[in-house]
Amino acid sequence: MARYIFITGGVVSSLGKGLMAASLAALLQARGYSVRIRKFDPYLNVDPGTMSPYQHGEVYVTDDGAETDLDLGHYERFTGVSSRQSDNVTSGRIYSNIIARERRGDYLGATVQVIPHVTDAIKDFARAETDDVDFVLCEIGGTVGDIESLPFMEAIRQLRNDLGRDNSCFVHLTLVPYIAAAGELKTKPTQHSVRDLTALGIQPDVLVCRCERPLPDSDRAKIALFCNVRPDAVIPALDASSIYRVPLQYHAEGLDRAVLAAFRIDTADAPDLSRWDDIVDRVENPEGEVTIGVVGKYVGLQDAYKSLHEALVHGGLANRVKVNINWLDAELFESDASIAAQLEPMHGVLVPGGFGERGSEGKIASVRFARERGVPFFGICLGMQMACIEGARNVAGIANASTTEFGPTDEPVVGLITEWMSAEGLQTREAGGDMGGTMRLGAYPARLDGNSVVGSIYGATEISERHRHRYEVNAHYREPLEKGGLLFSGMSPDGTLPEIVERPDHPWFVGVQFHPELKSKPFDPHPLFASFIKAALAQSRLV
Ligand code: GLN
Repeated sequence: MARYIFITGGVVSSLGKGLMAASLAALLQARGYSVRIRKFDPYLNVDPGTMSPYQHGEVYVTDDGAETDLDLGHYERFTGVSSRQSDNVTSGRIYSNIIARERRGDYLGATVQVIPHVTDAIKDFARAETDDVDFVLCEIGGTVGDIESLPFMEAIRQLRNDLGRDNSCFVHLTLVPYIAAAGELKTKPTQHSVRDLTALGIQPDVLVCRCERPLPDSDRAKIALFCNVRPDAVIPALDASSIYRVPLQYHAEGLDRAVLAAFRIDTADAPDLSRWDDIVDRVENPEGEVTIGVVGKYVGLQDAYKSLHEALVHGGLANRVKVNINWLDAELFESDASIAAQLEPMHGVLVPGGFGERGSEGKIASVRFARERGVPFFGICLGMQMACIEGARNVAGIANASTTEFGPTDEPVVGLITEWMSAEGLQTREAGGDMGGTMRLGAYPARLDGNSVVGSIYGATEISERHRHRYEVNAHYREPLEKGGLLFSGMSPDGTLPEIVERPDHPWFVGVQFHPELKSKPFDPHPLFASFIKAALAQSRLV
């Protein structure tokens, strides 16, 4: 049976609970254990798919087509374990399942209540599909004391009894703030947070204390005394210079030992951390640097492009260079004649995924700049669609080329996908349908032209990548676009949906309909990002 680690947070949000969960899982892997990480989100959306990136950061998509919390991206990047739909649940999904069952009459006249019906559903979710792993890490979103997380707290309290003490452990992440006026770190918020937790019947086994300054032994002892944990189970967590240093730092502070001690597991053997040592060495000792301009819409909030940011860093790791990212607001390029001045210092231009018309003319202008100037260009999802519209308008002479996403057009170079084949069979959609969970989502195969640039980058002609889109480049425009130099080098296996376009006569110009950034790992950089950064490095030597 799998052992369970329940991770909660206290005092404030944004302490890095997801990163801590991912790092702990990586440390357990380094000791030879298999892991799964799950995220429980207390909000009422069924999934984050309909939430603005400004509200919640990026939507992370799994192979099996789930739209999930961005923490699942950290989990995958740190462990290499592919997340699934069954690794992320929200209150909204739990309630919508329960209400559907109630309407069907499945409860046979019973009163349907938070305890036991909601808590049982949460427990079932936590325990599903975990037979094949040693440890399941369950991260509870939000902060102790939130009204909406109460059913989750109650469920994990019950789970400790169901699973037994030797098979479960509670890890609580808190803040130990530094008060400049007093010149001291303060433990009181941690004490209060643990008190809130114990009032819910949960006594943490391990406390992870985020602090800006080193935690003196006296404070460690004080926290242990007041919070009823062993001093070696109080783990200080200082800010790290890079997120990829976090697993090493947690190991140095004893996190994996403290957690395994809670399970009474011997930790005499040291973990194999060579993978993380190598990554940190590459992060900290780059042999050059490149600057990439990302022309997007949600540039005010970095979490909106979390996986993209990491994948660019990974491309740098593959080439041993530091990647500086310049986040450029596409909307400013629409009215600003200085687009060339802003893009000229860039060694590569990337137009990422996105939704809606705002900023699109700025994106199209950026594609044109990169095409005409021979600057490496990478278009992802909406970015690929913009590259096709740019090619249609400015090379193929289709002046009115547009996408139906932005409204009716007589030249729909990009249009709504109304039919496609999935593993489950034919999928159909029509304009005006539901927004939630209805895009073409998850892993789909593509077939590459063996003689193309992308064929040699992947070293394969059959690939599988993750998708999240409602519109698609219209294959009817293939001929004029290819005459204009834009080769359709990757298609869906049935040949109907364009998946990749490239310009063979350009130093590096690739547009992909999928999201390669979702599959990139620090120890296994995505080949497209590794190749794009390599091309940017070549460009940096020219300018
Ligand atoms: N808005 C576009 C579509 O739905 C692109 C989506 C994206 O970039 N993820 O097709």
